[in-house]
Amino acid sequence: MTDILLDIQNLVKGFPVTGGILGREVARVHAVRGMTLSIHRGETLGLVGESGCGKSTLGQLILRLIDPDAGHIFFEGREITHLSQRQLRPLRRQMQIIFQDPYASLNPRMTVGEIVAEPLLVHHVGNAYERRERAMELLRLVGLKPDAAGKYPHEFSGGQRQRVGIARAIALNPKLIIADEPVSALDVSIRGEILNLLSDLREQFELTYLFIAHDLKVVEHISHRVAVMYLGKLMELFPADELAQARHPYTQALISAIPIPDPSVRKKRMVLIGDTPSPLFPPAGCPFHTRCPYAEEICRWEEPPVAEYQPGFSASCHLIDRMQDRCVGMLTPGGEKTLTRSYP
Ligand code: SF4
Repeated sequence: MTDILLDIQNLVKGFPVTGGILGREVARVHAVRGMTLSIHRGETLGLVGESGCGKSTLGQLILRLIDPDAGHIFFEGREITHLSQRQLRPLRRQMQIIFQDPYASLNPRMTVGEIVAEPLLVHHVGNAYERRERAMELLRLVGLKPDAAGKYPHEFSGGQRQRVGIARAIALNPKLIIADEPVSALDVSIRGEILNLLSDLREQFELTYLFIAHDLKVVEHISHRVAVMYLGKLMELFPADELAQARHPYTQALISAIPIPDPSVRKKRMVLIGDTPSPLFPPAGCPFHTRCPYAEEICRWEEPPVAEYQPGFSASCHLIDRMQDRCVGMLTPGGEKTLTRSYP
């Protein structure tokens, strides 16, 4: 997995807050503040963080649904940051999105067959008969019966609707799929099925995912690597199957919030005090310093760079070398740190 499909460098995006009778900009929401990441072909990169940390905005920037204020986006080595909508059109086939809300993302006036075939129609792929056949095949691939094509979205459960959304996303054989909280709105009982479906499709069609979620356990289950975001910035990047080794204090807080179904596993809880600061006025220095239990003077005025602290692990923390012994991790009765992988 060395071939980089998507590379973003120092991406910045803010949204103006207007006020007064002239509607002038009076403040700015700093949604994404210098994100640098790359995703390898065939990889699932999990992007996790609290609501409002900028992860969905980052997904929209990558898809060029909104324009960045600064930074660069490269897709298959080609810079796409400033391409016009007309230049982007052929690229849209390569990059698709799965939305969080399967209820709101499907047109209630269209049949499921029409919804799944719509991207083919928009991109002038095949004739009407071929599009219908392709829609049937896609529905079968996502585990729905062919007769689903003639039904309307309201006739399906939430999980089935999300399968329809997935069928639509893979209709054009994309290379990259941004999955924006695809299981957050679903019952816990069917989350595992949708995650398994996404994993199977990735293997079958060599897809690459940016999988956005606020639940670290969900992200850890499906991802190869995990990126943790806080207030528009990258806090830590690590291999998903080495979650227990992640050291950043914010990642530690997220880990400590994962419920463990095994009563023999003891876990130290790291409770964060206070709310996330407003992205209107992000704090100086380390963005996490207002809630970090280890914050020192330097954290309040100097922003830590993202740096590799061991092979495969990078973090933005001045004290990362001292964090190894402070990891909350998961403690077994024998005192070893461990994490059990299980379906969310
Ligand atoms: Fe905490 Fe300081 Fe590290 Fe930020 S830089 S995470 S405040 S120890």
